[in-house]
Amino acid sequence: MSGAGLPRRLARGGFEALARLDGATQFSRHYPDESNAVLAYHAVGEPAGYGNVSVDRFRRDLDYLTDAFEVVDLPAVLEAGGEKRVALTFDDAYDDFYENALPVLREYRVPATLFVPVAFVGGCPDGYAYRFARSPVDHEAFNDPAAFVDESVRDPGVMSWDRLREVAADPLVTVGTHTRTHLDLARVRDRKTLEDEIVGARDELEDRLGVAVDRFCYPFGRYSEAAVDVVRESHAMAVTSERGVLSDPEAADAYRLPRVRAHEPTHRVRFDLSGLRWRLTELVG
Ligand SMILES: [Zn+2]
Repeated sequence: MSGAGLPRRLARGGFEALARLDGATQFSRHYPDESNAVLAYHAVGEPAGYGNVSVDRFRRDLDYLTDAFEVVDLPAVLEAGGEKRVALTFDDAYDDFYENALPVLREYRVPATLFVPVAFVGGCPDGYAYRFARSPVDHEAFNDPAAFVDESVRDPGVMSWDRLREVAADPLVTVGTHTRTHLDLARVRDRKTLEDEIVGARDELEDRLGVAVDRFCYPFGRYSEAAVDVVRESHAMAVTSERGVLSDPEAADAYRLPRVRAHEPTHRVRFDLSGLRWRLTELVG
């Protein structure tokens, strides 16, 4: 084990203990931290799956967020002078965003960004459902559907173009690109594929929905420098799956924005949002 490994592991266990204590005592609310943050949601509804939060939980989240923060549209978390701002993002454009999340967003009148995997809109292409059920971390040949032909995986349930048009027309929702085929960008070697998955996907969204699209989300939070370059040439900002808050929004890399995982236990999400965790991380190194 390296010299830094043990303190880091101790710190992770300590953060969980602190987060639980915070859940019971709310001590972090007294900690003067003015960080902004981006929250990463996936599915909203039942039954609970990966990244899923229930509608009740989502409502409680919004009660808390609208009370403790200013809930803003994504670009506003990067603005100078804005403090304690959070932006909501939803990955994968599932039907339950339309059915469960959007009515609550309207009720609370808060904005959100919805990241769309374009090839899955209106129906999953044959043999590609695994891209929402398996992880590229575990599969060297993740981008090759032939490696997954024997797997039975359920259709991810991305919404239709009709629903997406209705969603995109709502002033509270901004649509962003989540590639065409939800592939592992970190393993793409040729520029043509990167351009089709990043710029081509954006162009199709703009054409079909009649809106401007300038926000991007890396599937699985994975990317290469070449992928970031193509995103930078075609979009105004991009979110990753790296955990973190924006303690210095103006200094943040707009093409690698960290996020807080909204589906984790409530005490954990609130502790992460407090910013205290990240300051302690810096201390531990
Ligand atoms: Zn995704």
